[in-house]
Amino acid sequence: MSLLKDAENYLMPNYARFNLFFERGEGVYLYDDKGNKYLDMLAGIAVNTLGYNHPRLTEAICQQAKNIIHISNLFQIKPQIEVAKILAENSLNGKGQVFFCNSGAEANETAIKLARKYFYTKGVNKYEFISFKNSFHGRTLATITATGQPKYQEGFEPLPEGFKYAEINNIKSVKELITDKTAGIIIEIIQGEGGINPVEMEFIEELYNLTRKKNILLIVDEVQTGIGRTGKLFAYQHYNIEPDIITLAKGLGGGVPIGAVIGKKEITETFTAGSHGSTFGGNYLATVSARTVLEEILKDNFLERVKVKGELLKSLLSELGFKPRGLGLMVGITIPERFKAIDIMKECLKEGLIVGVAGNNSLRFTPPLIITEKEIEEGINILKKVLEKMKVKSN
Ligand code: PLP
Repeated sequence: MSLLKDAENYLMPNYARFNLFFERGEGVYLYDDKGNKYLDMLAGIAVNTLGYNHPRLTEAICQQAKNIIHISNLFQIKPQIEVAKILAENSLNGKGQVFFCNSGAEANETAIKLARKYFYTKGVNKYEFISFKNSFHGRTLATITATGQPKYQEGFEPLPEGFKYAEINNIKSVKELITDKTAGIIIEIIQGEGGINPVEMEFIEELYNLTRKKNILLIVDEVQTGIGRTGKLFAYQHYNIEPDIITLAKGLGGGVPIGAVIGKKEITETFTAGSHGSTFGGNYLATVSARTVLEEILKDNFLERVKVKGELLKSLLSELGFKPRGLGLMVGITIPERFKAIDIMKECLKEGLIVGVAGNNSLRFTPPLIITEKEIEEGINILKKVLEKMKVKSN
């Protein structure tokens, strides 16, 4: 097919893509150019919060496109202010302020800059960061450095200075790395790309107390876990902690690119005019989308339903003999060593089910949050059929 030839010729080869062309979506279903139907339990890698062609989101985007798509941050942007208010009122005890950007990496890059700027402004010489092995924080130079996986760093050296890696769920390993220069600790509440590994409650609470004692900023990367994915607006809210900085992207725009950073006011006020910026950050189209997504997921019992549906997903996976990990609709299972998660993903695609893979040979389920119980059952039935066909036994 000449389009695939063009793809090979004209696109950089940095993605290993499946040669499928999706043409449209409706709810949790996608349709390819041959008319095949797929149940999507990946949602564009935890992005399409409201699924496809959501009536309110589609309408809001179309309306906004007829008015203004982009105006720049030289001017006030009404929906940007409204989204900032919703995010701030629902996090950090209402003590936060928001910066908008375009992606998760850019949000984390901003958080790193913000933490350094905060201590710089206070005249305190702190600039080091501790992150965790097996983490994932993005693909810019600073964020691949924060990412505790050498495979993402190889070939891109020299990397920015001042990053160290501790073991998740091992407080001693964190303590050993802390110096009087440590500015921030960056953590995912559930390591996503690393294989859907939730952090232990005791560890995260100890880590929080440690950062309070040592004057270190706690930066929680909620790029994947945030915006209702785990059944709370932010995953940190399952724990007895309060971050200093939260980073967001993925699900926030329901598919329209947007990232955000929420930080406590005493930190964010050091981002004085001109100190940081992003041309597209928080533009009309992106923030109208984000406002619609937030209004939908903060409605009635939406988040409670995410929890219930997540429990169903986990219980169905348990019935297949797996030990599912995760919270809400962010769930992973480890595939036995003699099989490859990617092969299962490929077979699922043939049967009309989209699931993802993540680190440590895991299958990842991050469906649109609007998925119904019936659709979850349908998806797991397809998976069951595939596992039987491939003779994959869970143990
Ligand atoms: N942080 C986490 C936890 C992520 O899962 C990701 C992406 O998978 C990122 C950051 C990077 O986000 P983006 O690809 O939007 O730059």
